[in-house]
Amino acid sequence: MKQKKKSDVAVLLDYAGSRRSLTFLGLALSAVSMLLGMAPYICIWLAARDLIAAAPDWTQAANVTAYGWMAFAFAMGGIVLYFAGLMCTHLAAFRTAANIRKQGVAHVMKAPLGFFDSNASGLIRGRLDAAAAETETLLAHNLADIVGTLTMFAAMLVMLFLFDWRMGAACLLAAVISVLTMFLMMGGKNAGLIAEYQAAQDRMTKAGTEYVRGIPVVKVFQQTVYSFRAFQKAIDEYSDKAEYYQANVCCVPQSVNLTFTEGAFVFLVPVVLFLAPGALAGGNFVGFIADFVFYAVFSAIISTALARIMFAASGMMLASTALSRINQVMDAPSLKVPERPQMPEDSRVEFENVSFSYEGAQTQALSHVSFTVEPGQTVALVGPSGGGKTTAASLIPRFWDVSDGAVKVGGVDVRHIDPSVLMDRIAFVFQNSRLFKASILENVRAARPEASREEVLSALKAAQCMDIVEKLPAGIDTQLGSEGTYLSGGEQQRIALARAILKDAPIILLDEATAFSDPENEVLIQKALTGLTKGCTVIMIAHRLSTVVGADRIIVLDQGHIAEQGTHRELIAAGGLYARMWTDYNQAVRWKITSEREVK
Ligand code: ADP
Repeated sequence: MKQKKKSDVAVLLDYAGSRRSLTFLGLALSAVSMLLGMAPYICIWLAARDLIAAAPDWTQAANVTAYGWMAFAFAMGGIVLYFAGLMCTHLAAFRTAANIRKQGVAHVMKAPLGFFDSNASGLIRGRLDAAAAETETLLAHNLADIVGTLTMFAAMLVMLFLFDWRMGAACLLAAVISVLTMFLMMGGKNAGLIAEYQAAQDRMTKAGTEYVRGIPVVKVFQQTVYSFRAFQKAIDEYSDKAEYYQANVCCVPQSVNLTFTEGAFVFLVPVVLFLAPGALAGGNFVGFIADFVFYAVFSAIISTALARIMFAASGMMLASTALSRINQVMDAPSLKVPERPQMPEDSRVEFENVSFSYEGAQTQALSHVSFTVEPGQTVALVGPSGGGKTTAASLIPRFWDVSDGAVKVGGVDVRHIDPSVLMDRIAFVFQNSRLFKASILENVRAARPEASREEVLSALKAAQCMDIVEKLPAGIDTQLGSEGTYLSGGEQQRIALARAILKDAPIILLDEATAFSDPENEVLIQKALTGLTKGCTVIMIAHRLSTVVGADRIIVLDQGHIAEQGTHRELIAAGGLYARMWTDYNQAVRWKITSEREVK
């Protein structure tokens, strides 16, 4: 049997946990408050009836004061219940929003690190924040208003026919006409026009964003007139569409709609005049006039009810946007945690016939790659850009899981090692080793939270960071990223290296591009690296061949395959891809030196 699909609101409400029932209580209170809000109209009818019957001797209408107090009590009761209801819905909505954030964060914590390459953490946070805020508005306010409005509408229909169905029908006719004109305005061929109008609005917003983003380019290349043209065109198109839409589509129906919703009594007066002689002859003229007073006053509520229904409908749309944002986060893949984890024996790294393709990619980033790095060895991955070096290194700490084959650390498939154990064994200095907005101490200690202050200091010393620490006002307690404390790229890399040193992991993954991107820091970083890598298994993604000459082994990756591997000497002798790269590299260095001499 096909299972009934849960509504968006029901799915969102599941996040409220134990406070879910508070939402229902809040909605019930809101409905009751709406009914109480209608009761004063009946009091008005009762008062009008008594007054008219007693006229002109008003003192005879003794109950009028009581009716007045009753109306007041009902109105106050309605307000109190409405607030109580809102309190309940708010309590549930706050819990729901908090749970969306908590569960979203808990879920992305399980995602493989590679997921964050294509989904920046700021983007994920933005999605969760927006979803939580939208859900909060929906559950705390909109849902209560929607239930209140539906109750109000149902009560209104009942009350319209409560006293005199003919007068009620006259009032309802006005409401029906205004709803029909709204449908006419939005439906049929006009739906296409609305879509065009919204598309023009989107184009204008996009062109505006592009324009603002392009301001630096515009300024540099003096392209003002050219770049403005696209934006201007989008604005013109939008204003043409808006004018056409308003003049030809909205103008008449909207006027009719407003006339009938605001003046629902236009049909009431003729109907009353038509019925009056009959009522007079029938002998119950007092009741008839009281009914008329009731409907004249009550018809004012129709426009409020219709307006609220329109808002309620737009409120419901929030549910689906919030849910789709939550799903974007909850659909993140999770890293499979082994049920019976095994401990790696040592720091050997093995690739066994590894193939890997990125999601949606046509070709494999790595194809049947096998190699072994013995404990304590330094292996360099080299090759043309896009060859698969970064991908190969990323598979070791499980940024991604292999599509085929196996990556092993200490003789155990990385998928069978507890992720936290695996992370403890590996330190990486990658291009995206970022620093947090925290003190230097906390930044370095992130690698090993239980490390003492002294251990952090000696790691900073080993990473050649003491010059940075000494020039900062509060030493290692200086907060980064605040009050103007920003570090240069090279300095950040050295702090990241201190973090790796403190971690004291037996396996080190190193992206050389990061490590040497800043020439001023190069000597210091080289020193720090020597300290870091001593006795460790090192896998280095190398870009400058001069740094790989001393490696125990060089693996040349080309288009996802191992083209060749060996020591520098062996590979030069083989005369393959590496030998060609080496010749090119030396030529480039010679050219650089020659041209620098010529300039001088
Ligand atoms: P290298 O580090 O040798 O320059 P990479 O490992 O970065 O090479 O890339 C290998 C192949 O995988 C390339 O074809 C590249 O376009 C592709 N690739 C790399 N990262 C991603 C990614 N996040 N999503 C899709 N394809 C990727």
